[in-house]
Amino acid sequence: MTDPFREWDVAYLMGSLSPEDRRAYERHLEVCPPCEHAVRQLAGMTGILSRVPKDWALGTLPDVPSPRVRVLVVAVVVLTGVVVLLLLTHCTW
Ligand SMILES: [Zn+2]
Repeated sequence: MTDPFREWDVAYLMGSLSPEDRRAYERHLEVCPPCEHAVRQLAGMTGILSRVPKDWALGTLPDVPSPRVRVLVVAVVVLTGVVVLLLLTHCTW
């Protein structure tokens, strides 16, 4: 039987779950060691990422012609990081 909550960890940590889903997931975490472990692992990574100084992170971006493009570049970088986190935590190769 597959775990219906297996893929909810990133959404939980990103605050993307509805209040009802969040409560259901938190109840599940109390009884599911694999999901609880996955959340703890990801929480550590997001904690590390949150300590990167914003000015430094923005300074590493290439020069772009407009603020809109700059926001798009930041969004792509963040989404790439999320994909990498998902691959690192969910792939079994
Ligand atoms: Zn679970």
